Amino acid sequence: MKNEPQTGRGAFPAFSGKEPGKELGKELWQESPEAGVWDYSVPGREGVALPDVDVPGCELPPGIPQRKELPLPEISELDAVRHFTRLSRLNYSIDTHFYPLGSCTMKYNPRISEKIAALPGFSLAHPLLPEFLCQGSLEIMELLQNFLAEISGFQAISLQPAAGAHGELCGVMMIRAYHQKNGDSRRLRMLIPDSAHGTNPASVAMCGFQAVQVPSDSRGNIDIQALKSLCDDTLAGLMLTNPNTLGLFEERLTEAVEAVHNAGGLVYGDGANLNALLGVFRPGDAGIDVMHFNLHKTFGTPHGGGGPGAGPVGAGRKLAPFLPGPRVLREGTVLRLAMPENSIGRVKAFYGNFSVLVKACTFIAMLGAKGLRAVSENAVLNANYLKKLIERGYSIPYNRTCMHEFVASGHLSDTIHALDVAKRLIDYGCHPPTIYFPLIVKEALMIEPTESESRKTLEAFADAMLAIAEEARHNPDIVKTAPHGTPVGRLDEVSAARNPVLKHSNEKAP
Ligand SMILES: *Cc1c(COP(=O)(O)O)cnc(C)c1O
Repeated sequence: MKNEPQTGRGAFPAFSGKEPGKELGKELWQESPEAGVWDYSVPGREGVALPDVDVPGCELPPGIPQRKELPLPEISELDAVRHFTRLSRLNYSIDTHFYPLGSCTMKYNPRISEKIAALPGFSLAHPLLPEFLCQGSLEIMELLQNFLAEISGFQAISLQPAAGAHGELCGVMMIRAYHQKNGDSRRLRMLIPDSAHGTNPASVAMCGFQAVQVPSDSRGNIDIQALKSLCDDTLAGLMLTNPNTLGLFEERLTEAVEAVHNAGGLVYGDGANLNALLGVFRPGDAGIDVMHFNLHKTFGTPHGGGGPGAGPVGAGRKLAPFLPGPRVLREGTVLRLAMPENSIGRVKAFYGNFSVLVKACTFIAMLGAKGLRAVSENAVLNANYLKKLIERGYSIPYNRTCMHEFVASGHLSDTIHALDVAKRLIDYGCHPPTIYFPLIVKEALMIEPTESESRKTLEAFADAMLAIAEEARHNPDIVKTAPHGTPVGRLDEVSAARNPVLKHSNEKAP
């Protein structure tokens, strides 16, 4: 508890090489990251050396928009390199910091996967190659389809969707197509637990369905009585996340699936939390009809700042014919691309994010069945160990043995909120957990350590969390005003999202 970092050299000596806002060269540059290059701008200074023009000059034809003034900083190449390198070091990433962002599964991205994806045969393959010239690439896709089918217990997989949310949309479109094909056009209601990720109701609304909220019970499961009372012949289906976003296994999953099936509905499994289940539980065997995988969560591919990801969908017997396509099919020794019989169609240009597929395939092939099971066992072990440590300073509202993540409350006092804890963690040198989600926990701190972290890192993180809980009691101001070592601290996050300033400028933002 003696640890009181003011400026960022915190409990993570291994990661504290970068102190936000205090890095090398800070003295020479302005506080504000966008101010830097302008301060170095000198009229006439150039960062490029172009060869002399060897053709006659001419006027641009009229009608082409031209500007007399182009207000760019005039700096050397070295200053430009330093500017961008410096900006890159203000970033947090899994390669630089512990990153316990709940539900996002920020695990290590193995370098071998990058190497394999960069092999020229894969990285230079043109998407318009005829099938007979890209049998190797198709074989990787077939292998991944088969791996995912075996891992999940689904009959068929489509690798098309570009993200989890995209996979969800496909799954709901498939459910809609299924009911339409059966002439069941009254089935427009989709049940969604109140702990669900916001993309669930969004996907439902985009498909013209009505999202109906199902409450959770006191153990953090879907309330089975409430669910049953909502099952009738207007039911399109249920979207269920397992383990749910509280990090808890849905104890009455089988009953829930049965109730929905008995009413003629279908079950969508949100597979974002599959990292807890590899080699232990197969959603397809439990009667789930369709599910997306987040390759960037479960199978170690980079999240990459919003993309490119991959969100393949798997489907059981009823929905497999509706999968998006094309999928890879084998005919003897030859692989070809084909659309499933009642396919909802193409949802992505060409064949999905192919390089991400190669990386996930590498991850799975490298670990094998035993290794994948160890992934989940260690993810669950790490989360439970961390929960035990953090319990000493934080309340855990639904406190049962958790799966790969758990949700604590950041409500440390009347004045200290989850946001304050998150901001203060930055001073201690780690990325904050997910906050204010799921919505059913007040001041939620959703913590997911993943299997890649060592016991030492988990303990260092718990020490930081407990130190903050202590500060909240004795020195709340330092928590309320955190972070102290970054160029910007507390943003107006609504304006930052609605009116982002994306243009480089020497004028102050409005
Ligand atoms: C991440 C996540 C999604 C959405 O996946 P993306 O790949 O980010 O689009 C959906 N549901 C849950 C529970 C998630 O954690």
